[in-house]
Amino acid sequence: MAENKIPYKIYLDEEDIPKKWYNLRADMKNKPAPLLNPGTGQPLTAEEMSGIFCEELVQQELDDTTAYIDIPQEIQDFYKMYRPSPLIRAYCLEKALGTPAKIYYKFEGNNTSGSHKLNSAIAQAYYAKKQGLKGVTTETGAGQWGTALSMACAYLGLDLKVFMVKVSYEQKPFRREVMRTYGADVTPSPSMTTEVGRKILEAHPGTTGSLGCAISEAVEVAVTNPGYRYVLGSVLNQVLLHQSVIGLETKAALDKYGVKPDMIIGCAGGGSNLGGLIAPFMGEKLRGEADYRIIAVEPASCPSFTRGKYAYDFCDTGMICPLAKMYTLGSSFIPSANHAGGLRFHGMSTTLSQLYHDGYMEARAVEQTSVFEAAEQFARVEGILPAPESSHAIRVAIDEALKCKETGEEKTIVFGLTGTGYFDMVAYEQFNNGTMTDYIPTDDDLKAGFAALPKVPGQE
Ligand SMILES: *Cc1c(COP(=O)(O)O)cnc(C)c1O
Repeated sequence: MAENKIPYKIYLDEEDIPKKWYNLRADMKNKPAPLLNPGTGQPLTAEEMSGIFCEELVQQELDDTTAYIDIPQEIQDFYKMYRPSPLIRAYCLEKALGTPAKIYYKFEGNNTSGSHKLNSAIAQAYYAKKQGLKGVTTETGAGQWGTALSMACAYLGLDLKVFMVKVSYEQKPFRREVMRTYGADVTPSPSMTTEVGRKILEAHPGTTGSLGCAISEAVEVAVTNPGYRYVLGSVLNQVLLHQSVIGLETKAALDKYGVKPDMIIGCAGGGSNLGGLIAPFMGEKLRGEADYRIIAVEPASCPSFTRGKYAYDFCDTGMICPLAKMYTLGSSFIPSANHAGGLRFHGMSTTLSQLYHDGYMEARAVEQTSVFEAAEQFARVEGILPAPESSHAIRVAIDEALKCKETGEEKTIVFGLTGTGYFDMVAYEQFNNGTMTDYIPTDDDLKAGFAALPKVPGQE
């Protein structure tokens, strides 16, 4: 049987690390809607953007026609330290589930940041350095992005100021210390150190913060300090572009054994790992060369795709960032303190939003306790302690594999295992103690967020 030849871990060679990123937008007929200047309601120009972002990243952000973009040699060399990442056949999980489905996962947790975020962190830090900047500012939720960027900035000798969502800063002191070990300056957000932070604290005293708040603070510090720019770990097109290395490697590994997936599953916070994982597969789908089911998984506590509105909205709570057309719960929506910190963003990548809107992908919302049940089941047989974010994808992969068990279908399922959960043990502790709860916002909770959507011409 050909199947027996597939190893537990499919490793690629060093030469198989992609030398070009794949820009999915080039193959989209309906391009993602442009970012708008909130003041004028007009598409943001490269010049306007370059006050906030690094120049070369602005070019990448705006480029929706070039399919392949060269990965600079310095970034390729950095990738060699931890890439290619393995694509693992989950034989043990398949056996435990008793499913005829074939399950594969692409594991991105094999670096000190513990997640896929390093793929874009090194790229963004590289372009900042190349531009001659002193440093960059950013936000971090659960801390994976801040950790990844700290590593990249330390490697390149750049200064880094991180605004960390307060609930994570308090729940994850070790994450904070990893960042400081790499030389980053870490501030809990919202803070009193920025104008926007003080405003948010005045309006919501005692708030535990959100990614949206932290973004506002980081942007303010970048635009008010010469020699600094702001970098973002998800949502933006440039981040999806950098993360395409995940999908390109996955495709190369599957092609090596002639495996064609039926469905591809990934968790979605701002959409970067999912956008990267699906990129080459979605490209084939858009070009009519192949078909795949693609499923985004989000927390029921922050259901941007499944219950959000497709509308122009601010990316941040302080409403100082450009407007993006995306599935959103409203920039004033502050999700409950769900433990999957990396999935607590009110919006979603504009690229994935357009694809979802056009029917190219599905979305599913799952509850926290069922996510941790899946995480535990996975950890016990596959030998990796998954991040809570990643475990959203595990949940749906297991659900789909169990459906195959009922129908007897031998479907091939690929999912993204975005990272490890060693810094998430407070959440695991709650799960183990049986004190973890599920929170699902009511329609009224969501209505408040929608009511505060900005007025944009053409948007009711
Ligand atoms: C940040 C993060 C996510 C979610 O971010 P996306 O941009 O949606 O990929 C998922 N998993 C892990 C481990 C993360 O750190």
